[in-house]
Amino acid sequence: MKLATKIIIGLVAGAIVGIILNVTSPSLFETLNTYLFNPLGQIFLNLINMLVVPIVFFSITLGVAGLGDPKKLGRIGVKTILFFLSTTAIAIILGLTAATVIQPGKAGEFNTADASYEAKEAPSVSETLLNIFPKNPIEAMANGDMLQIIAFSVFVGIGLAMLGEKTASVKKVLEQGNELMMYLVGLVMKFAPYGTFGLIATAIGSQGFDAIKAMGLYFIVVLLVLVVHAFLTYGGSIMLFAKKSPIWFFKGFAPAMTVGFSTSSSNATLPISMETAQKNLGVPKQISSFVQPLGATINMDGTAIMQGVATIFIAQVYSQNLTLTEMLIVVLTAVLASIGTAGVPGVGLIMLALVLNSVSLPVEGIALILGIDRLLDMARTAVNITGDAACAVIISESEKKNGNYQVEEPAAKSV
Ligand code: ASP
Repeated sequence: MKLATKIIIGLVAGAIVGIILNVTSPSLFETLNTYLFNPLGQIFLNLINMLVVPIVFFSITLGVAGLGDPKKLGRIGVKTILFFLSTTAIAIILGLTAATVIQPGKAGEFNTADASYEAKEAPSVSETLLNIFPKNPIEAMANGDMLQIIAFSVFVGIGLAMLGEKTASVKKVLEQGNELMMYLVGLVMKFAPYGTFGLIATAIGSQGFDAIKAMGLYFIVVLLVLVVHAFLTYGGSIMLFAKKSPIWFFKGFAPAMTVGFSTSSSNATLPISMETAQKNLGVPKQISSFVQPLGATINMDGTAIMQGVATIFIAQVYSQNLTLTEMLIVVLTAVLASIGTAGVPGVGLIMLALVLNSVSLPVEGIALILGIDRLLDMARTAVNITGDAACAVIISESEKKNGNYQVEEPAAKSV
């Protein structure tokens, strides 16, 4: 049986077991969760997290060194950022529109009197931008600070490209390091079906389903826009710009999407999304290594969708109308907030405080959606990483067309 099929079976089995235990025997769930589900999930998460920092460092360094001249890097960089910014803006506009039309905040009584939310300090946008440059690369790696690791790796890659033969042996070591890490990804992935089972059983089993019932329409609107965005924006741009079939794209990338769904973390899924894009979608290593780690850090369309819907939802619950200008402010801040959102579980909600503040909506409103955010986080993370892969495919196809890479037709085979 293919690994991708096994992961999907793990995911579905985890969901079924989680729901059954949640409904029939919460105490049995607690016991099984402590001794089985949670350990399985955490071991898997730790194993893939263990590979993220070395993979990002090796692959970006080699990717940049492999691109050779800085002009090529600049061109790919500009295309990548343009794709990221425009798809995130589309995502948030879709979210705002759907919530304005469907009005989830008007469907039911929401207890705003008891709502309280302690907004954690979200980093300001300028802080995020300044922090790109690391004072200490080792510290950045120890803290898993992705943007800083990316910046350091880009510098090292440029150095390697410039020095050429002089640093050939350093490059060789990095290549072998990368080879080793990719081998380990394959090894860790063998555990993915069990890890996915554990993560999903924990996430679903510990949910209060009453919360979903109360917040049903909000939940549905977010999911609906996530699906629409994935199929229309990504499927459409794959067809339009890469001249490929969306079915080929989604089929090839599905294994990474299931892992993104179960881990709720773009960063943790990175090793798998890169391997999947390279093997199943034929994205050259140099492009995948640059676009996907950057995307996992700054491109969060799923998160932007949740923030758009949540902003309108909270405005409706608190009976505050947003003007068109305020909506534009929301688009702008949500795009910036999604850049500042780290690719780890739940951060999107913290950044929502920034968006709400920008149009003076009550931050306590976040308390209303807190209960069901864990489940939505899974779905939006799958969309977040799919956006990065779509960008990688589009850029690689356009570079191939320009004759910069050999055209290799990948079969949409699974990892
Ligand atoms: N969990 C998301 C991710 O890692 C970020 C978020 O929306 O909370 O992509």
